[in-house]
Amino acid sequence: MQKEIFFETIIIGGGPSGSACGIELLKKNKNCCIIDKAIFPREKVCGGLLPEKTIKLLAEIMSDKTLTDINQAIKIDTSRSIGFYLNYKLMASSHTETTFTICDRKVLDNYLLDYYKEHGGKTYEGTFIEKIDFKNKKIYTKDKKIFSYQYLVAADGVNSYVRKALNKKQLKKVFFIEYDIHKKDFKYKNELSFYDQNGKQLGWIFPKGDFYNVGLGFAKKEKSAVEITEKFLKELGVKNINNYQRKGALLPNTTIVKPTDKHGVLFVGDAGSFSEPLTGEGIYQALYSGKMAALSIINNKNVLKEYIRSTKTLRQSKKIMGIAQFFIVKLDKHAVNRLKKRPHTITRMVDGHIGKRSLKYTSIFAFIKSYKNYSK
Ligand SMILES: Cc1cc2nc3c(=O)[nH]c(=O)nc-3n(C[C@H](O)[C@H](O)[C@H](O)COP(=O)(O)OP(=O)(O)OC[C@H]3O[C@@H](n4cnc5c(N)ncnc54)[C@H](O)[C@@H]3O)c2cc1C
Repeated sequence: MQKEIFFETIIIGGGPSGSACGIELLKKNKNCCIIDKAIFPREKVCGGLLPEKTIKLLAEIMSDKTLTDINQAIKIDTSRSIGFYLNYKLMASSHTETTFTICDRKVLDNYLLDYYKEHGGKTYEGTFIEKIDFKNKKIYTKDKKIFSYQYLVAADGVNSYVRKALNKKQLKKVFFIEYDIHKKDFKYKNELSFYDQNGKQLGWIFPKGDFYNVGLGFAKKEKSAVEITEKFLKELGVKNINNYQRKGALLPNTTIVKPTDKHGVLFVGDAGSFSEPLTGEGIYQALYSGKMAALSIINNKNVLKEYIRSTKTLRQSKKIMGIAQFFIVKLDKHAVNRLKKRPHTITRMVDGHIGKRSLKYTSIFAFIKSYKNYSK
């Protein structure tokens, strides 16, 4: 018989949400481990865009690192300008007050997990779970280990194994196709560009060191998604597309879920559907929810309720961004007219909501409502 390995908290998934949770738990000497099926450093399909608020949150979590330390360790590019395009036509462009850092996720995720390990955190990498007995709080792995726990943190991403094993409501998902195109094959600028393709797909171009990260997001399953993306790249003037690896990935769509389960499970990051599909942003939400899960466990009073309470703002924000997404798709042309007439309001939204997260929800509502003025 295998001996059981007990941890007060077991975190499944060592991405930003899982590492943030583990690091916070270690600060209070809490007994925890991270189980991941991958061996780090591992690849992760992602634009890698980090607004100022995310860098600040990283510095709060890795409390002995400065903003400069973090930027030096992970930054491969930066941008302070932004452009919005409708069907390849530039509609508005503006400079942002805040700086956007671009990182390689393989580097960022490894940096966070390494920090956790350096501070005494235990990991089981390359470990696949066979079964979870939620009632008796036991995890059985394919390499025949048996773990037991008090709290289980599901940080296992958009296709969460834990969510499936609990027969929870499945998340609606946005499907992305992306490429990293070398700058020799694509003459562009150091701007964060967003492309609205007739309200059907949202595309992006982010500078990434020697490359541009370029892709399209599909809200619905689309048989010809690959052809549409290739056409998009060709129209942009990308050369030698066939030389590049095409990557696909999912992000939770507008689904809002309760981030806990009565068996003592806390869902964080994409597993808890915290990311915002309109902006494609999820790293800040992953770090924040991971940190809140840890603080609720440390507090040890009504852990599940406390976690629900402390992540309420993330759900509110996602709800409002979901409404904005609906309006932008519905009022496509009018949204663009608004952009043309008042580009500075967009910059204010980008700086306020994405850059600093200082915008009040009421201003976001006012912003969405004002689209109506342009639909007449
Ligand atoms: C194309 C694309 C572009 C994006 N661009 C941005 C961007 O520019 N900026 C931004 O902020 N966000 C972006 N996002 C969103 C961001 O990538 C996610 O929100 C973020 O990675 C969520 O972090 P996480 O820790 O919840 O999950 P993940 O980072 O997905 O980590 C989950 C971990 O769980 C592990 N795991 C999964 N299943 C199991 C299992 N059964 N057993 C053990 N381990 C398991 C995985 O190996 C992985 O390490 C983008 C997403 C996509 C798809």
